[in-house]
Amino acid sequence: MASVLARLRELEVATRPEHPDLTAALARRWEELPAHVKTRSQMLGRRTAGCEGTHGVFPRCNLACTPCYHSREANRVRTDGEHTVHEVERQMAYLRAERGPGQNAQLIGGEVTLLEADDHAAALRAMIDHGRKPMSLSHGDFDYDYLQALALDPATGEPRFAHLSFAGHFDSMMYGRRGIKAPESEPALNPHRARFCEMFARLEAEHGVTHYLAHNMTVTPANVDQVPQVIRDCRDMGFRMFSFQPAAFIGNTSRWKHEYREFSTDEVWRRIEQGAGARLHPDGFQIGDPRCNRTAYGAYCGDRYVPLLDEDDERDARVLDDFVAAFGGMDFAAPPAILAARVVRGLARHPRAIASAAGWGRRFAARAGGPGALVRRRPRAITYVMHAFMDADKVKPAWELLRRGELSEEPAIRETQERLQACSYAMAHPDSDELVPACAQHSVLDPEENVRLQEQLPLRELPMARG
Ligand code: SF4
Repeated sequence: MASVLARLRELEVATRPEHPDLTAALARRWEELPAHVKTRSQMLGRRTAGCEGTHGVFPRCNLACTPCYHSREANRVRTDGEHTVHEVERQMAYLRAERGPGQNAQLIGGEVTLLEADDHAAALRAMIDHGRKPMSLSHGDFDYDYLQALALDPATGEPRFAHLSFAGHFDSMMYGRRGIKAPESEPALNPHRARFCEMFARLEAEHGVTHYLAHNMTVTPANVDQVPQVIRDCRDMGFRMFSFQPAAFIGNTSRWKHEYREFSTDEVWRRIEQGAGARLHPDGFQIGDPRCNRTAYGAYCGDRYVPLLDEDDERDARVLDDFVAAFGGMDFAAPPAILAARVVRGLARHPRAIASAAGWGRRFAARAGGPGALVRRRPRAITYVMHAFMDADKVKPAWELLRRGELSEEPAIRETQERLQACSYAMAHPDSDELVPACAQHSVLDPEENVRLQEQLPLRELPMARG
């Protein structure tokens, strides 16, 4: 009887739109957010607790980027599967306890594919087991054999994951890639971008393992004008997200090569819009501070990019209000019966979302060229993101003051503090019981952490960038 009751209770929780731990975590996050980001379209604290990333796991990389956000010591640390899995386990357990289930987490460090495929798989499994949705961040310079070994259980040859998410980092400031040691331009990397996508398409065709691929690119004065072309050339390759990071002065100072503040983030965003071939609507959804993040959701219907929400249309703003009121942080990736029950319960708590969604559907179809256009040209969702990390010389003092509970009077440091307080990309520190913004991790904590790791995991051979 007790076990039946426990099972019923489990089912009741599983079919709630939001897991109660997530409800509590979102409420805490909303409470902590600074007033300037508590807007109607803010998703932090209402739909998501924010993105997460690992740290101190496998800092070494075999390519050389300019800039590189890792400290100089990173390449003196051995990539070690046992250490990685242990650390990932600890960090993910902390994130699950602090932020509830269903959050996106990046398996990130130096280069993830320097891990043995089984260790990489064990790290992803630990993330999934702690309720994270993992994405591996890689330079993409690995072979199909590695991908297959990651995806398949070596004992049975059957898939050990139904789905894999990867972010491939490709830009012309990365040196040492096989076959293109020093790219002369962004288009020169297109065959490598295509090859990356083709490996995942092959994995799906041969083993049924689906994928989500993001394209990451650092933007500097050397390649900013090539951003539109990169998008035009690559948007049909299979990437579902294009994320651009205007370079910041963080990490290894010997890898700073350009005057990164020559252009504004507005200028980068304009280039992204040129490439997308449409005006983007990043104010439809806000994720943290807009000085850090802009995210535009939408879909191509043929060549036409259709925003998910029109940021100028009050009716679309109401759709978002209704969606959040009905579903909050609901995880839509669930088995069909559980998902159906969650949707029904969500709509029951806010029935207006039904009419609201119907109106939105009509407007979306009209923007796409009419219902016929949607049928003829099945929409392909693509998300455009710009994430602007901050310079270490601002982050260090801002973070140190914040930890003492002080706000700076100096405008640039105060702005940095505001952004850190609204951070949407956190790293877990179970020992000090803290969630640390990635900017503070890279600017303040990485150097000490990598010195410690260098002693704990010394290299067995000299580090070399691949050439
Ligand atoms: S504070 Fe840094 S890590 Fe956090 S969202 Fe802003 S730019 Fe990203």
